[in-house]
Amino acid sequence: MINIDELTELCGELGCRITPECSLSEYVTFRFGGPCRALISINSAGSAASIIKYLNAHSIRYGIIGRGSNIIASDEGFDGVILLFGSDFALIEIEGDTIKCQAGALLASACVHAQQSGLTGMENLFGIPGTVGGALFMNAGAYGSEMKDIVVSAEYIDENCEIKKIDAADMRLSYRHSIFADSKCVVTSVTMKLKKGDPDAIKAAMTECMSKRSSKQPLEYPSAGSTFKRPEGSYASLLIDQCGLKGLTCGGAMVSEKHSGFVINKGYATCSDVLELCGKVQRIVKEKTGYVLELEPVILR
Ligand SMILES: Cc1cc2nc3c(=O)[nH]c(=O)nc-3n(C[C@H](O)[C@H](O)[C@H](O)COP(=O)(O)OP(=O)(O)OC[C@H]3O[C@@H](n4cnc5c(N)ncnc54)[C@H](O)[C@@H]3O)c2cc1C
Repeated sequence: MINIDELTELCGELGCRITPECSLSEYVTFRFGGPCRALISINSAGSAASIIKYLNAHSIRYGIIGRGSNIIASDEGFDGVILLFGSDFALIEIEGDTIKCQAGALLASACVHAQQSGLTGMENLFGIPGTVGGALFMNAGAYGSEMKDIVVSAEYIDENCEIKKIDAADMRLSYRHSIFADSKCVVTSVTMKLKKGDPDAIKAAMTECMSKRSSKQPLEYPSAGSTFKRPEGSYASLLIDQCGLKGLTCGGAMVSEKHSGFVINKGYATCSDVLELCGKVQRIVKEKTGYVLELEPVILR
């Protein structure tokens, strides 16, 4: 049982905003999902640690959301507390060629800060719509670059609610995966090392990335980006195309006609629609090509 009054008092002491009974659909880019018992907007690593300690002590489930751009939220919602790592925890600091971001900073803002400071190395990540914490958790990447290439260290809250530091070499960063996905550890800040570059050239590369995205991706519809991981030896979108699945629909969910690697929300999709459609795609692709497609977004339930 969650004692909302007690939790609200704790949040008040820590200066964190709390919203009881809110819909997950407002916090994920797919724009569906049921309610959670409460959502707390984190404002510091210390506050996050204190809140997690309280939740653990009271056996209350919690989940983490950054920008919610890689999450499939259940229609039934989440019977627990969501900790939002967003704009209340989004400081970006640059010193020399090093950029340190609080977990809730948007990756896009970090890219812009880097560009303005004449630092190169992040431009291919520009346009990935998430937070820096979420990007590290997923080892997000695009156009031949990934977080793994630039991260040097991170701070996180461990299972005992202590704030620790970890070097990139120990993060098990691989394709869309990190050590954080294997544990209950929560990323609080990320430090990345870039190189000196020409601000105009960096800006041009960022603009090019963005225009490639808007010409190829169905950005006009809610989605969680690429729905399936790239299977070894092929591409999910290529296989889906080859199987003639473009436009396949379940309820309000559809395989995008613009980019078949994206399942989109036509405006009234539910989590069940998306999971049913993904299941169909996975089954048909397996039958016709032998490839196994694995979901990339994380299911929050
Ligand atoms: C239009 C579109 C295009 C996309 N293009 C790309 C792309 O090119 N490349 C790519 O890699 N991805 C892409 N994505 C997917 C997504 O943007 C990335 O995975 C992004 O890094 C997720 O960040 P987030 O803050 O939104 O994380 P969320 O979606 O909020 O969370 C994802 C997972 O990370 C966990 N998490 C988030 N923050 C933390 C934290 N601080 N500590 C611990 N766990 C945390 C969550 O609990 C969840 O399990 C795209 C998505 C969309 C909608």
